[in-house]
Amino acid sequence: MEWSVADAADYYRVDAWGDSFFVVNEAGHMAVQPHGDASLQIDLPEVLAELRQRGVRFPALLRFQDVLRARVRRLNEAFIGAIEESGYGNVYQTVYPIKVNQLHEVVEEVLDAGKPYGLGLECGSRAELVATLAHLESDDTLLLCNGVKDRSMLSLILSSQRLGKNVIPIMEKYAEFEELVRLADEVEQGTQFGVRIRLRTSGSGKWADSGGYQSKFGISLPELMRVVEALQNGAAAHNLVLLHFHLGSQISEIPQLRQAARELAHIYAELIGLGLPIRYIDVGGGLGVNYTDASEEGGIRYSLTEYANAVVYAIKEVCDEREVPPPVLVSESGRAITAHHSVLVVETLDAYRKNNAEEDLELPEDAHRIAQNLDKTLAWLRDTPEGEASVDEVIEAYHDVVDNQEEAATMFAMGYLSLEQNATIERMYWSSCATILEHLRALDPEYAPPEVQQLEELLVDQYLVDFSVFQSVLDHWAIQQPFPIVPLERLDEQPTRRAMLVDLTCDSDGKVSHYVSADEDKKFLRLHPLNPGEAYPVGFFLMGAYQDIMGDSHNLFGRVTEAHIYGDAEEDGNFWIEKIIPGQKVEDILANVQYFPNDLQRRMQDQVKRKIDAGEIRPKRGMEILDQFRGSFAEETYLDSPRQPRPIAGDGKE
Ligand SMILES: *Cc1c(COP(=O)(O)O)cnc(C)c1O
Repeated sequence: MEWSVADAADYYRVDAWGDSFFVVNEAGHMAVQPHGDASLQIDLPEVLAELRQRGVRFPALLRFQDVLRARVRRLNEAFIGAIEESGYGNVYQTVYPIKVNQLHEVVEEVLDAGKPYGLGLECGSRAELVATLAHLESDDTLLLCNGVKDRSMLSLILSSQRLGKNVIPIMEKYAEFEELVRLADEVEQGTQFGVRIRLRTSGSGKWADSGGYQSKFGISLPELMRVVEALQNGAAAHNLVLLHFHLGSQISEIPQLRQAARELAHIYAELIGLGLPIRYIDVGGGLGVNYTDASEEGGIRYSLTEYANAVVYAIKEVCDEREVPPPVLVSESGRAITAHHSVLVVETLDAYRKNNAEEDLELPEDAHRIAQNLDKTLAWLRDTPEGEASVDEVIEAYHDVVDNQEEAATMFAMGYLSLEQNATIERMYWSSCATILEHLRALDPEYAPPEVQQLEELLVDQYLVDFSVFQSVLDHWAIQQPFPIVPLERLDEQPTRRAMLVDLTCDSDGKVSHYVSADEDKKFLRLHPLNPGEAYPVGFFLMGAYQDIMGDSHNLFGRVTEAHIYGDAEEDGNFWIEKIIPGQKVEDILANVQYFPNDLQRRMQDQVKRKIDAGEIRPKRGMEILDQFRGSFAEETYLDSPRQPRPIAGDGKE
């Protein structure tokens, strides 16, 4: 069967998640369309070549800043379209919640791209407050402060309001409101604030608990009434200007969003009726991104346009019904802005293949009884042409093989088998399993007894890749979030190996356990056999939201190198690399856990000195060892990828 680049795009589901930012090009390479259309294309392997030339080692995170900008534009234009179409009498503003990706360059790029649309920021902690406050260049720029806030944070917020900034602390608890009012009164200052309302409507899916009655955050309706009372009796210098809800990330159903927006709009109308100066309705984050097929579990089955229409029309209808002026609409879309813009590039270090159907397995004369049993089964499997043995016969052979292997394991544990005998048995076992699977597949591709599935899982290749799941795709481990993974080259060639990607950590969870593909079984991904002397870079896509920033230093693997790339039709290859931020060094990551080079060196020196004094090594050798130790501090935490991955034995045949 002929394999084309279109087959690759289909297999890796590039159209489903690429959202026209990622495509497979004619050369069989992954390519980026930085503007989200065919006007400009950047070949990813060309970017890798330039990065290598500039001394960058992988893993590296590539940021396509134009993609960020295009996402900001798309989001705002969807709302502008909905507002025009519906005749809504006010405007829309995005606030970018920096927790999704706080990297300075990301925040600055988003702010810059959002300038024509009045884009603002959202913060959720003291450190985020400090970072965002300094970026409110215009007095109109909105800064929403979510999360639990203490006195010192509320006081800083009041001071920034005093400076004339449009900062709105959002009250998550009634007590927070009391504290804010007390502090404002102390400095004789009026303040503006918002409230997060605990709605009846909740989201669904993994993040459902972010909204609804059971949510960790938000003010209940009785508490809201207490706030209103307080404002009417004496706290009149303070203004409730914003109502907010947040249904949680990856909102899966538009009707829920519409219902929540209507619920909040009715509360808005009531409060306007009571004379409160509310100007904003903030529908929170949760605008979804497809990491896989929309039809799969967790898939997002609505477009940006549908999302924007749902919000605008729901609120407009209530405002029209209740004859209240329409508020400014705000959304806190984080994932939808950042997810697409970054790609993690990792190198394959090696591939381990268990299903070596070794043709030339010769049994020694004195082979153990179990090895001889296996040999007989294997001989029968080999001598029977594929498709001729019956399913029952093959399954019986499989059970035989498993019984023999189990017996061998027991005997070895009791000391009745030598290591060498056991190794021979293990080789025969894998050869038999591989051959049995070939028979079963040949018999009936549709027929899938549990044995076939067992074998398929058993015989998957392991591709060792130079990265850490815990540092770079934490959500994959924590909440089973799938991420699209695609080899960056050779997509014009059919991927014939069934692979599982495993990382460098010593953790058995340090692997990618489910994949985005057209296969029914998502526990493996089809990849190409490694070619001798050729690198095999693999891309992890849609890394820009949360993953970049949540990284966990499991096994002390640190932040990866980053490169910021802009599209430009005037440049060779349509791109230029603006900035390279080196990955964390060994000494940086050690310092996080309180190990410092001076102390470590002193300890090592003492040990070497003792060996020299005892005459166990020569002083010169001792000093060389110390230099070598010292040299490691400045090295990166990941491996020096061999430019030439080892080929795997027996490759080239399925
Ligand atoms: C996390 C969060 C967001 C961002 O959600 P996305 O799903 O990334 O759009 C927005 N608002 C609040 C209050 C949040 O906690």
